[in-house]
Amino acid sequence: MAEVSRVQRAPDDLFLKIVAGEIPATIVHSDDLVVAFEDVNPQAPVHVLVVPRERYENVAELAAASPQALARLVEVAQRIADERCGGEHRLVFNTGTAVGQSVFHVHAHVLGGRDFTWPPG
Ligand code: IMP
Repeated sequence: MAEVSRVQRAPDDLFLKIVAGEIPATIVHSDDLVVAFEDVNPQAPVHVLVVPRERYENVAELAAASPQALARLVEVAQRIADERCGGEHRLVFNTGTAVGQSVFHVHAHVLGGRDFTWPPG
């Protein structure tokens, strides 16, 4: 059932369209498992989104289905941070509308290049 719902929602998946090249984006990394692109509304000097090529709604689904893709995603996030902001970064997976998830294709926000406060708002 979960698989059916995943496929049915795929046509509306903005990030699948970016992965497929159907919507323009500034791609900064692409490989067989993940794609990274600039966030269209950056919240920091470095704000890149890293997404798996396959659609999973959140990071727990991705971890269960494809730990290899999750590991690659984290590796790519670290590499981007290394290249752009000395390695220090905040890696965010919003899960659910209450905490701000608006696109239901799992994505890591790679944020850096400025000081951050804690706890987050
Ligand atoms: P969420 O709120 O954690 O789901 O993050 C979604 C992110 O996607 C937000 O930071 C948006 O700015 C970003 N976003 C939405 N549409 C696009 C787009 O077309 N290109 C790049 N980033 C996008």
